[in-house]
Amino acid sequence: VADYKDGKWSDFKILPFGKIEVSPACAALHYGQAVFEGMKAYKNEQNEVLLFRPLDNAKRLNISAKRLCMPEIPEDIFMEGLTQLIKLDSEWVPKTEGSSLYIRPYMFASEQLLGVRPADEYKFIIFTAPVNSYYAEPVNVKIETSYSRATEGGVGYAKAAGNYAAALYPAKLGQDAGYQQLIWTDSVNHEYIEESGTMNVMFHIGDKLITPNLDFKTTLAGITRNSVLTLAKDLGITVEERRVSVTEVINAAKEGVLKDVFGTGTAATIAQVASITFKDDKYVLPKIEERELSNKLAKMLQEIKHEKIEDKYSWIHK
Ligand code: PMP
Repeated sequence: VADYKDGKWSDFKILPFGKIEVSPACAALHYGQAVFEGMKAYKNEQNEVLLFRPLDNAKRLNISAKRLCMPEIPEDIFMEGLTQLIKLDSEWVPKTEGSSLYIRPYMFASEQLLGVRPADEYKFIIFTAPVNSYYAEPVNVKIETSYSRATEGGVGYAKAAGNYAAALYPAKLGQDAGYQQLIWTDSVNHEYIEESGTMNVMFHIGDKLITPNLDFKTTLAGITRNSVLTLAKDLGITVEERRVSVTEVINAAKEGVLKDVFGTGTAATIAQVASITFKDDKYVLPKIEERELSNKLAKMLQEIKHEKIEDKYSWIHK
């Protein structure tokens, strides 16, 4: 835990997991100044604890904080807090492949405040929880065309708490109808694909791996997304980051060239999609055994995370 007051971070401490006290007038609870990150710790054969691209999480937290008018947390403080905590929690990092220790760094406006303005006081907290992989089974998804998660000029690219609040209701409607995940589309005409609830989304169409670009700042710049695109290029796959229309995806499904759809994210790594529904039509994707590319990428990423294969890009932080 660290506190921001009088323009600086101080009072760094590690506490047993427990309740924290905030004022009933805590600014974050009214005006939503709250940003967070999600990351994981893994182990290698030697039982050493490994983090995956942690500096990228620190950088992204600060991009989110800036958009929400919050102070940055210096990268060295982020890394120091993280490593000290993980050292203490190392026995909770499972060795089994696929399992990990989930790490949640977050920051919120803790000042007691009634008027609408950026707060002057903040808390930065990191806590951990052991988890299994998120979606072991392929998921059924629906392309959402009634509700929006993010708008151009909004906070969609930030990992801000409010984004998730806005997504809960449509996601619940989707879940009640049998879809584990929604695929969000742009808020103007619901014409272009953005991302999924907690994942970026990729389409293997013909010989290409295609994913929405980040130019419109409505989509989170996923660290797994970037890693998967890098690995795919290494495998000689043509990667395209550009606008992806719903029509393009549906036509590819109709023509039988939509080989795969999968989500990428820290929680699931790669979550393969079983079926994709658009309006009243459901398109079932090829059998999992036939998804050569995503199976290979998932395996490579998993093996890098557990240091079973070469970490060519120095993604691992011991
Ligand atoms: N989009 C959203 C909305 C997310 O919450 C996440 C999870 N952080 C992602 C994409 C994937 O990002 P990452 O690969 O960095 O976990």
